[in-house]
Amino acid sequence: MEQTLSRLKAIDREIQLLTHTSALLGWDQETYMPSRAIKERAEQQSLLAGLIHDRLINPDIEGLFAACGVTDENPKGHESLSEQDRAFLRLFHRHYTRESKIPKELVVELSRQASLSQAKWIEARSKSDFAIFSPYLKKILDLTRQKAEKIGYKDHPYDALLDEFEPWMTSREVSEVFSDLKKRLQTLVRKIAASKQVDESFLLKDFPVDEQDEFGRAVLKDMGYDFERGRMDISAHPFTTGPGADDIRITTRYQADFFKTGLFGIIHECGHALYELGFKDEIKGTLLASGTSLGLHESQSRTWENLIGRSLSFWKHYYPKLKTSFPEQLKDISLEEFYRGVNRVEPTMIRVEADEVTYSLHIILRFELELALLTGELKVDDLPEAWNAKMEEFLGICPENDAEGVLQDIHWSFGAIGYFPTYSLGNLYGAQFYRTMKRDLGDIDDILAKGNLGSILSWLRKNIHQHGSIYTARELCEKVTGEPLSADYFISYLEEKYQGIYHY
Ligand code: MG
Repeated sequence: MEQTLSRLKAIDREIQLLTHTSALLGWDQETYMPSRAIKERAEQQSLLAGLIHDRLINPDIEGLFAACGVTDENPKGHESLSEQDRAFLRLFHRHYTRESKIPKELVVELSRQASLSQAKWIEARSKSDFAIFSPYLKKILDLTRQKAEKIGYKDHPYDALLDEFEPWMTSREVSEVFSDLKKRLQTLVRKIAASKQVDESFLLKDFPVDEQDEFGRAVLKDMGYDFERGRMDISAHPFTTGPGADDIRITTRYQADFFKTGLFGIIHECGHALYELGFKDEIKGTLLASGTSLGLHESQSRTWENLIGRSLSFWKHYYPKLKTSFPEQLKDISLEEFYRGVNRVEPTMIRVEADEVTYSLHIILRFELELALLTGELKVDDLPEAWNAKMEEFLGICPENDAEGVLQDIHWSFGAIGYFPTYSLGNLYGAQFYRTMKRDLGDIDDILAKGNLGSILSWLRKNIHQHGSIYTARELCEKVTGEPLSADYFISYLEEKYQGIYHY
């Protein structure tokens, strides 16, 4: 069995090396690649995708699984194996089963349509005209439905798609968590809207990019980001990527006339990177060295960005330093005023610009529309109207055009249906973990006020990061917090924090 396992590990190692290579090409494409190189880059990437697919559906694999005692009913294999090897087998079996159910023709057609449809989405968005995009979205939706049918599901085709991003979670579970969240967030938004708005005008002054960069890099170091195992560059949309086990890179963007974009983006991406840099040595470079779900990954970035980075205690330590970097801009602005400014709540049309209170309502809107689109209950042609109606219902504002409404996100254009919920699940996981962390570490406000970010990172490494994908998100949540995922912790965190800011 040891030999069989080694053979499987060798196959996985090649898949990881190819995946890392593809990540490096992707990173280059978003940062330094000259624009005309895109055509050959697309070919390079599709070649790698094919090589990865072929290795994953290797005809020997079924036999190797059988020799390890792996079956659909017992994906972890023989009980005599170590817990780590059993977790490895469960995850490998999962990838294999999923990948081998989707016919190669469908994979190729989806990838081809995704490229075409992404280009049309860019055009449609720039002209703010949904009609340009709608025939392509219909095609993508049709192919995505086919994919869901091939993969199979118990209750709803959405489950087959969600499972790619949030493994082992179903749309029914998401619906349950979201229905509670939606009601309570809407109440909170109404209370805040009826209160006196806080001022953020000082954040719109001129903040030179070089100084923002210098300050951001100092915060990254304090958070524990290792520049010998990563780097930070500029890209249009910030992201984190891992071209190697010791090479986890982040990107950011700065706006000279809006301070929040740069620093909070950096803290967010660093949260993702610290997760990837924190996997224990025994699983480094294997398929277990990955975030166990996108929701879990997002919990790490959002905890650092919002629960820590937008807390008053964090700024007790950093605000005097920030004032040294920007003495003119922040001259007469007190710590409390600054804290309130970076936490201003205001319904916006655009999801990526939303504050932490309204953000999840943008997600629930997309989730509800995706469910209805998949079943055919909602027709693509009626989507803009349905979108606007929900914006009005959830946030009390209505987009004036498709660009700031239904066309704002790229996800649907490349078939990523079932992806959006993971953003909100990240908020929920994050708040639930944070409560346990506070219980374990004692006076977390004192820790933050002293700038002792190292003890936060140690807790996250010990309880979450080191495990990679050994546990599922559900298992990890119960292991760490003793309970299944609940919206309660996130909501009570918001209620307490914003009561203090808005005094409603
Ligand atoms: Mg993120």
